[in-house]
Formats: sequence, structure tokens, C-alpha cells
Amino acid sequence: MSEDNAFENAKQQLENAAEFIDIEEDELEVLKKPKRVVEVNIPVKMDDGSVKNFKGYRVLYNDARGPGKGGIRFHPEESLDDVKALSAWMTWKCAVADLPYGGSKGGIVCDSREMSDREVEKLSREYIRRIYKYIGPDQDVPAPDVGTNQQIMGWMMDEYEKLVGKHKPGVITSKPVEIGGTPGRSESTGRGVAFMIREAAKRLNRDLEGMSLAVQGFGNVGKHLVKSAQEMDMDVVAVTDAGGGVYDSSGLDYKELKKSMEKHGTVAEAPYDSITNEELFALDVDVLSPAAIENVITEENADEIKADILAEAANGPVTPKADEILAEGDIFQIPDFLCNAGGVTGSYFEWVQNRYGYSWSMEEFREKLDKKLTKAFNEVYELHDQKGISMRDAAYSLSVKKVVKAMRLRGRL
Ligand code: NAD
Repeated sequence: MSEDNAFENAKQQLENAAEFIDIEEDELEVLKKPKRVVEVNIPVKMDDGSVKNFKGYRVLYNDARGPGKGGIRFHPEESLDDVKALSAWMTWKCAVADLPYGGSKGGIVCDSREMSDREVEKLSREYIRRIYKYIGPDQDVPAPDVGTNQQIMGWMMDEYEKLVGKHKPGVITSKPVEIGGTPGRSESTGRGVAFMIREAAKRLNRDLEGMSLAVQGFGNVGKHLVKSAQEMDMDVVAVTDAGGGVYDSSGLDYKELKKSMEKHGTVAEAPYDSITNEELFALDVDVLSPAAIENVITEENADEIKADILAEAANGPVTPKADEILAEGDIFQIPDFLCNAGGVTGSYFEWVQNRYGYSWSMEEFREKLDKKLTKAFNEVYELHDQKGISMRDAAYSLSVKKVVKAMRLRGRL
């Protein structure tokens, strides 16, 4: 099996966890398949007058616990299997965080960095025209992911509302604050990862203050993780992104990283020593957090990792083969769908606020986020501790059990 096929990896992880759950083989087979796959072709008239066809997907993996929930990714190498894997992980993520959602995901095969704003807007609106019957606040609720942002969510919500003829801000989350978004949402994934690291440090009897942290990725997740970790007095010693990276054993300054990012589109130009992505993974740090893309820790580099805590902020950064290698050591792993659950929890808060037409203060938002994520971490930790199973298997056991229970109660299994 290729380590690159995210959906094969997602199914493998499910199978590994099934060992610890009371589930029949035929029930497991049901859980290995998405409930609905929508594939669309989206012709867009480009600025040069040519017409280009884009492939788009929306996958609803499971909706036994509530409407589907999952982002929309714009990426040139997006594939249906990637979208399926991400939708499966969303199902387990929403269950582990105890949100009243199922799991879904969407994607368009495109390189939006090479497109004008007009072309991206047109593509986003045309995508919604083709999938709007399958989404909605009570059906399936999208959000941004890699390659998409708040502006794109704003266009998508607007197109949806035009098609249904009603205000329905809860159709999509992580919108601009002025049109139904909530201020805490954009930081919620990265801040949530920092909460998870704090909880792990407590359980490992480690002092958070002065802990060294290396982060791959300085996008939405990575930058808020860096900022929140510094607020919690951790030392962020290395950050890399697609353009390279920087290292300083006495700590990097968030403002310098941000400045380099704004000016050069990468953190690599900040005034520190250079470091590659490969070198970042092998650093002798307290915490390593891959917060960029999937499949970055593989059987090739897993044995080079020296960190004590691996906070999997990205989706699917560790392949199953790498997991086996890591299990032989004593690295404490915070599995991806628990570690980055702050994002969907923030989205859930936005959806709740949209539904009752009221907005919370930032303090209230952060307090509720902390409470929800700390509870999820502790439930997983307790099971890991009691049963002597990995944090990933514990997180899978808890969430799959919840989904299976919902399916049985509905008479679907
Ligand atoms: P983003 O597009 O904002 O940022 C991605 C970052 O990864 C950028 O810094 C980019 O330079 C870097 N990157 C891309 N390719 C790379 C490569 N080959 N090597 C090194 N760095 C590379 O994306 P994001 O929203 O920050 O998401 C990051 C990860 O977190 C993804 O796996 C995503 O699915 C996951 N995630 C995001 C959210 C969210 O709320 N945004 C929520 C949960 C999970």
C-alpha cells in the first residue's frame, strides 16, 4: 500500500482501532465507506477569454450524529481519495470533541494562487451552484481548509443565499466577521493546539514555561499556534513553511515571522538562521508540531524525531507506518483529529451563534473553547492510560463508538 493514499491510511487507522471496540466486521465495512460522494465539473471563463474546466467534490462521510461538517480545500493535487479521507477524519473529530455533527469535506482541483480574484470568485460561486442542494445549516456545513479563506466563504454563503432566497449564515463557517463570522474562529485551531500541548504537559508533569516548540507551517493553524504558544511562555525555536524556515535556540519572535510572511510570502526571510523542513523534524525539542500538510512523517524520517511531544496540528501528518515506528519509542502523540479539533469547535460556536442570532465576546468564546477541548483531551487520555493503548487508538475508540451508537440508535446498523 502506498503511504501517500490518505484514504487507505484513514481506513487502516479505523481498522487498527476496531480491535478495541465492540463492532462487527460488517458494521466496520459500513464505516469504511462515505455515505455520499458528489463530483462536479465546473467550467469557468478565465480572464484571457478561455474556458477552463475544474473538478470539484463534496463528500458526506457520516451524518448519524448531526449535519455533515467539513472544510473545502483548493489544491492542484486534490483527489477524491484525499477528500474521502478528510471527511472520515472530520467524522471522528466531531465525535471526539462531542459536537452534534457528522463529518464531510469538499475540494476543487485548482491552483488558486495562479488565478485572479475574479476567477477564484467565479469558481467558488459556480461550485456552490452545483452542490447547493447537498449543503445547508441542517444538512452539511462547509468551512475553509488549505487554499481557501474567509473571503471565499463569504462568496459561497452569498451564492447559497441567492439560490435558496433566504438569509442562512449557518450554511458555512469561518466567514468574515462582518457577515456572520465570529472573531475567535480564525485563531481557534492554532489556539486549540496550544491548549492540547498545555494539557499534555500537565499529564507528563512538565512545566509549560520555557518548553521548546518547533512548528511546520505558518498558515492559519501554524501562525496562531506560534502566537498562542508564546502567550503561554513556550519558546518557539523553529518554524518552516513551503518556502523554507528559520531557527533560533533562544526563541523566534512572532512579529518577525509575520513581517517576513507579509513581505516575502514565507517565514524563511526572518532574521534568524535557516533551517529546512527535513531538519525541523529532527530537532531535539520538547514539542514538534506538523501544522502544514499530510504525510510529512513517514517511515523515512519517523526514527529521526527526538521531540517528547508530537502535536499533530495538520490533518494526517503521520502515516500508519510511521505511527508503528513512533510507537516503539516514548514520544507522546496528540493525534491529529483531537489535536486540531479547536477549528471545528470554533466553527460549531459560529454556527450556534448564527442560529440564535447572537454573538459572544472573545473571552466567552476562548473560555468555552478551552473547556470543550480540555474535556476531549482528558477523555482520550484517561482511556489511553486505563487501557494502555495509544492516544490515537484511544481517540478512535471513543469517537467510533459514539458514531456506531448513533447509527444503531437510528436503526442504521
Ligand atoms: P494554510 O494554507 O493556511 O497554511 C499551510 C501552511 O503549510 C503554509 O505555511 C504553507 O507554506 C505550508 N506548507 C504547504 N506545503 C508545504 C510543504 N510541502 N512543506 C512545508 N510547508 C508547507 O493551511 P491551514 O489552514 O493552516 O491548515 C494546515 C493544516 O491544518 C492542514 O492539514 C489542514 O487540513 C489542517 N487544519 C486546518 C484547520 C483550520 O482551521 N484552518 C482546522 C483543522 C485542521
